[in-house]
Amino acid sequence: MTNNKYKILLVEDETNIRSMMTTMLGAADYQVIPAETCALAKTLFASYRPDLVLLDLGLPDMDGMRFLEAVRQESLTPIIVLSARSDERDKVLALDAGANDYVTKPFGSAELLARIRTTLRNYRHSADSGKLPSGRFQVGELVIDYDARQVFIQGEEIKLTQTEYNIVALLSEHCGKMMTYSAIIKGVWGYPNGGSIKNLQVNMANIRKKFGAKPGETWYITNELGVGYRMNGDNGE
Ligand code: CA
Repeated sequence: MTNNKYKILLVEDETNIRSMMTTMLGAADYQVIPAETCALAKTLFASYRPDLVLLDLGLPDMDGMRFLEAVRQESLTPIIVLSARSDERDKVLALDAGANDYVTKPFGSAELLARIRTTLRNYRHSADSGKLPSGRFQVGELVIDYDARQVFIQGEEIKLTQTEYNIVALLSEHCGKMMTYSAIIKGVWGYPNGGSIKNLQVNMANIRKKFGAKPGETWYITNELGVGYRMNGDNGE
């Protein structure tokens, strides 16, 4: 059923990477629409209305960030940035401009496919609900009761402050997505004050302690230094 496949617009100027990814995504049953320039990507985006965009930032005719901004002016179509840039600032800029996630080159196919699945799932979820979260959230042994504003691990309630709860709830609503410091600060405190990053980190350290996570151990929340935090999905995605 060809017309049931997810359509992915792949914006990548390097021929080898583009054809390798086209093959890999095709094998994973996605319909791939390849584009090697921003200009072509804009045309194809308008005519195909893809379900997801994979976007290289270093493109010959324009910076991929311009395409990202152009798409965000008219739609919430999920965008995963393919970044060769190791600079955290670029990742933060892309996420704050509305990218849903990013992967850093070189990446493995398993990693990329996992990110695509998570991003599509989160997008469907947010499109379905579109309201304040209610009910329960569960990932692994972690359960959040949004109505009672309570958090449990292995059935034990974790006593959080209001701010700590708000941080955990916000990350869970965007489970699987890397959220920048400023996006979290804006969501929790209501203003993007750079000086609050320290405050956020202190709160996060307390949450980590209350969750019983040992230093260096993988837990429910991943920190990427200089970028932000991500609540991990079911498969540690
Ligand atoms: Ca490139």
